Amino acid sequence: MIWNETIECMDRRDMHKLQEIRLKNTVERVYHNCEPYRKRMQEAGITPDDVKTLDDITKLPFTSKKDLRDYYPFDLLSTPMSEIVRLHASSGTTGKPIVVGYTRKDLNIWNEVGARCFTAYGLGKNDIIQVSYGYGLFTGGLGAHGAAETIGGAVIPMSSGNTEKQIMLMHDFGAVGLACTPSYALFLADALKDSGIPREEFKLRVGIFGAEPWTEQMRLELQEKLGIKAYDIYGLTEIIGPGVGHECECQNGTHLCEDHFLPEIIDPETGEVLPEGSMGELVFTTITKEGMPLIRFRTRDLTSLNYEKCSCGRTSVRMGRILGRSDDMLIIRGVNVFPSQVESVICEIPELEPHYMLIVDRVNSLDIFEVQVEVKESFYSDEINRMLQLKKKIQHRLQGVLGLNPDVKLVEPRSLERSQGKAKRVIDKRKL
Ligand code: ADP
Ligand code: ZN
Repeated sequence: MIWNETIECMDRRDMHKLQEIRLKNTVERVYHNCEPYRKRMQEAGITPDDVKTLDDITKLPFTSKKDLRDYYPFDLLSTPMSEIVRLHASSGTTGKPIVVGYTRKDLNIWNEVGARCFTAYGLGKNDIIQVSYGYGLFTGGLGAHGAAETIGGAVIPMSSGNTEKQIMLMHDFGAVGLACTPSYALFLADALKDSGIPREEFKLRVGIFGAEPWTEQMRLELQEKLGIKAYDIYGLTEIIGPGVGHECECQNGTHLCEDHFLPEIIDPETGEVLPEGSMGELVFTTITKEGMPLIRFRTRDLTSLNYEKCSCGRTSVRMGRILGRSDDMLIIRGVNVFPSQVESVICEIPELEPHYMLIVDRVNSLDIFEVQVEVKESFYSDEINRMLQLKKKIQHRLQGVLGLNPDVKLVEPRSLERSQGKAKRVIDKRKL
């Protein structure tokens, strides 16, 4: 099912034209209404007249997360506060959060892109949708909420936490869709099993998972554990929130809503735009937003883009799985490591649960790298030989993927900390 066929299946040339017009309007808007942008453009020696085609976007300076912090809280708004109807903020790991203001029209755009996502997952007005992303300043809860209402579904505004009640309502209300982080979905999968209620008594069919990186292997785990189809939803507060992109029934790439958010892939070192298909840092320019349009915002998310038409009929560009944020990349003994690489290995070993933790430390100027992972109940044993063999197998596979030989510590099932929102899977003691 497709929510907005005209846009989602638009001829690529028409999409370019639309993007071009919208880009020009946005550049005009920020130049005239937002001091920091005007200054930046003046420093770069350009005016809105210099942006005539989509390719001219490269003349515009980038915007970074740091800029958003520097202009905290409202200096990047391009409308007066009287036009703003909602404020959100992303946690931000250090110091001040990043604040985003939405006009009424911005909220409508958010609902529109959210509706495209949920429709692509096969959800509609007859469906009950449980939103278990956190409600509040975090965009997850209210973003998914707006999407579900827009398609006419019945929302359960559950928010995260309170796991027993999550399971009870999912069961009693007959939720068909579950929106939460993939790591919380794992947690709920265990809780569902523990509840002792037979799976057939649940109507759950669709998972709407995002807000953190997750691998294809994790998808398979979740689909099997929950007996559902698990779909990716992508988004970030700065751009709008969840709904910037979504998978379709093909589960083969995340379609971006590029009539609103114009993507580029750049080399994170040089800032140069990379050729189609290359892996690099994702950059967005919002081309319809009023409250806080962003020009060439550097997401730090590493991925690639594919412009081939999808078998679902959509022509919108598809983003590959996000390897991780460049800030999540660990450099251990000089080797680049993403938690998602470890995840892909762990999920492929049948004896293991998909719960893991990476612990990095430095002793005598040498990096120590330990991977803790839970062993499935049915495999966990006191037999040292068996456990040693399993450990070796994991080490061997990790070595193959990472080019690095971590210590592997097998831990009891359910002993690692569970997450109700975004998972924390790395403890890097070197930075403490
Ligand atoms: P914070 O920056 O505080 O985590 P956000 O909710 O705005 O707050 O986080 C957005 C980020 O979350 C994205 O830039 C990306 O790194 C990650 N993210 C969101 N959705 C996905 C997804 N589907 N797959 C991978 N990463 C995701
Ligand atoms: Zn598709």
